[in-house]
Amino acid sequence: MTTANAYPVTQTIRTIGILGGGQLGMMLAEAAMPLGYQCVFLEDNADCPASLYGKVFHSEQLEAFIAAADVFTLEFENTPTATVEQLASLSKSGSKQGMFPPPIALDIAQDRLKEKGMFNELDIATVPFMVVNSEAELKQACDELGLPIVLKTSRGGYDGKGQFVIKEESDITVAWHELKDAVSGKGALTPTPAPLIAEGFINFSREVSIIAARAQNGQVRCYDLVENHHHNGILAKTRAPAVGTSHLFQQATDAITTVMNHLGYVGVMALELFVSKDTRGNDYLLANEIAPRVHNSGHWSIEGAITSQFENHIRAVVNLPLGDTDNVHPAIMLNVLGQYPDISAVLNIDGAHYHSYHKAEREDRKIAHITLMPNDVADLDIALAKLVAVLPNKVGLDKKLAPTVTENQAKTPEQTASTETDHAVEDAAVNVKESQPEGLGDIDQLSNDQLSNDQLSNTDKAQK
Ligand code: AMP
Repeated sequence: MTTANAYPVTQTIRTIGILGGGQLGMMLAEAAMPLGYQCVFLEDNADCPASLYGKVFHSEQLEAFIAAADVFTLEFENTPTATVEQLASLSKSGSKQGMFPPPIALDIAQDRLKEKGMFNELDIATVPFMVVNSEAELKQACDELGLPIVLKTSRGGYDGKGQFVIKEESDITVAWHELKDAVSGKGALTPTPAPLIAEGFINFSREVSIIAARAQNGQVRCYDLVENHHHNGILAKTRAPAVGTSHLFQQATDAITTVMNHLGYVGVMALELFVSKDTRGNDYLLANEIAPRVHNSGHWSIEGAITSQFENHIRAVVNLPLGDTDNVHPAIMLNVLGQYPDISAVLNIDGAHYHSYHKAEREDRKIAHITLMPNDVADLDIALAKLVAVLPNKVGLDKKLAPTVTENQAKTPEQTASTETDHAVEDAAVNVKESQPEGLGDIDQLSNDQLSNDQLSNTDKAQK
């Protein structure tokens, strides 16, 4: 690998060290290259997607990885916090240029209890929740929160794994036996003891996320709110922007800005939210979780935003000005799960952009994504139908997203705020029916196989 870069010799950052080497690392490296930076990766899978873009160091080669890079970031949030702290301390001593995001962000994102505690401390609404350390506490949580509840491991879960929906009293013992090993630290997902968290089951009308970038000078730039559909806890598709959510945009940007400022965050973060309705039919947002990294629901931004989430993350990490986050064209992003499609059939669809992760096929594994941006936004749903028709694995794609964004809606949220409120109520009504049964089914199914399933590489675990 050469070490040439596009900056003056006085430039202090040439190489970015990334913890993890999955597709997020690959796309970060793709964004870093035109800016003149190279990336190296700390990742145990030598054939990881990022290996196409830079040198991969095994975790046993940590010192060599450190020596090879000037500044550090991550693409995998289940990275040991000790490593992140070590990298941050090198920066404090002046021998390196920084570890972004800061270790505290990782520490909180790895623990649902700390995360929800932080949201509440910052006055950001969440579902009601309780700590569970025993079957008796679980019973008490069911009484106090009311059934149904979602029981989750507080640490180690990913892509919906480590969760169990308790719908009736007879589920309590089954759920406890399914997840209790996490409490003693024997579970496959949780090598160190960590309590469970019982959450009230929220009847959300849809799931949305907001992504933002924060620079080293504290400037924050937010992307549009997007709507997400999951299959078995894995993201299946994203629509950007989410139709009929402009009345929620300010609340979402306030929430993510507050979290980022609180953590002294640098880089890109995602905040996943539920849209729910109060008794008067008004929408409100509940924060579910943060991802302290670039996020799957922001992949549309590669083609659909003025500056992609990947480029903005790199810009933040190397201390360059952030780019404009505005949406340039409404888009739908689909994850390709498990099986590759015929690429020529995909690219036969006008406005389709294909991103392969160069991974072997495996059930429900994220191996590519496709972003649809037909020239005429009115063709977006037609393009989606064409794409679904040529994908070998259609799981999670049968559910309708909110209707296509009109050109008027595609303008700034402020421009369309007054007209969208009515759509939002209609859209949400459609989605309540469609999304809720799937949500329940998904979690149920996951809870049964997740604890036995821990053979995936870090790369797969991280790519939410
Ligand atoms: P999480 O790992 O928290 O992102 O959960 C995975 C998926 O489970 C979410 O995307 C939701 O679809 C669903 N889910 C999680 N928590 C709840 C909850 N408290 N109520 C209803 N659905 C939930």
